[in-house]
Amino acid sequence: MVRLFDLKTGGKRDYRPQMAFYALGLMQKYDEEECEVHLVYSRYRESEVYRINRGEAEEIVYHIESLVKDPNKKETPCDYCNWCARRGSCSALTDMAKVTIKEDFDCKAMGEKLDAAHKVAAWADGVKKDALAAARDGEVPEGYCLVSRTVDGDKKTTYLRKKKREEDA
Ligand code: SF4
Repeated sequence: MVRLFDLKTGGKRDYRPQMAFYALGLMQKYDEEECEVHLVYSRYRESEVYRINRGEAEEIVYHIESLVKDPNKKETPCDYCNWCARRGSCSALTDMAKVTIKEDFDCKAMGEKLDAAHKVAAWADGVKKDALAAARDGEVPEGYCLVSRTVDGDKKTTYLRKKKREEDA
């Protein structure tokens, strides 16, 4: 049996599919049939331990692989959009942000409003990230300028700043 340890500094989520990928890789590499997974949550000072066998890991991994390779697949916004590199340009997430702003921001319940805010924030973060990457490649968005500043003594960083009206003139 192989053992896998993964330190999680954030919140608790369903990490089973991610662990299945790691576990399957380890079992294939060391020709083992079972893997003991240790998820260590530093924020909660807790750990979760479970075992997954090769057949179970293969089922999860190959199912996800078939979804990725499906030529008719459609993007479906979910809680993991925050980590997606395409979140700034994804049309499904953009559409969902539009609907969310129209409908969910009118709701009275603060919990629902906060859920809506998180979804829209994922899209907004992606747009900002893509805009900065484009500007660093020479395509500065209209009305903005790319500013360079020194951080930590000698390192340089760049960020986008909205132009002041007199700078446009
Ligand atoms: S941003 Fe789009 S492509 Fe990325 S995970 Fe969300 S729905 Fe899928």
